[in-house]
Amino acid sequence: MELMTTEQRTSPPRRHERTCVGCGRRDAPGHLVRVVVRDDGSLIADVRGGAPGRGAHVHPASECIGRAAKRGLARSFRCAVQIEPRVLADAIVQAAHARAGEMISLALLSGQAVVERERILLDLSRGALSTVVIALDAPKEALLGGLARAIAEGNAVAWGTCASLGALGRREPVAVLGIRSSTLGDAIVQACRVADGARTGAEVR
Ligand SMILES: [Zn+2]
Repeated sequence: MELMTTEQRTSPPRRHERTCVGCGRRDAPGHLVRVVVRDDGSLIADVRGGAPGRGAHVHPASECIGRAAKRGLARSFRCAVQIEPRVLADAIVQAAHARAGEMISLALLSGQAVVERERILLDLSRGALSTVVIALDAPKEALLGGLARAIAEGNAVAWGTCASLGALGRREPVAVLGIRSSTLGDAIVQACRVADGARTGAEVR
């Protein structure tokens, strides 16, 4: 799957649309997750895109995942598919979480991530950050001021813990990261949205 810009996400070219095997509606690939059936009959959530094997698309939402697991995938793949909605949702959550981690790691290793708090606040005030990544266990005092505003305005996503976020860049625990590259920022936000959507499904079922 290509990394998409915000513009492409909001006005996707129709020829790229795919059909959700849960609800049957067509949508931009960025709003759907590709599920692939492998030769041994097992399923994987292909959040990165491009995994070999026959693929079907599903919205990362509880209702669509439920219908896909019960009927949609079997119909699309023309074979018996036995997977519980919860298992499918968990597979999507894990794959999306890992995908976001890869993109955050790439940002850290390519100099597109800002770690120092003062620098993040300065870059935020200049509009130089595409998104902010916040560890789920970040201390409350780390989220005051400009960061609270970024969260309120929807320019922040939650990922992992301070320890796991720091480990991506082979460094000490990190509570907050600023992402400069809009390509990486958009990919991180998208993967986190997929994980959040599917996670809700995992809890409901
Ligand atoms: Zn759907």
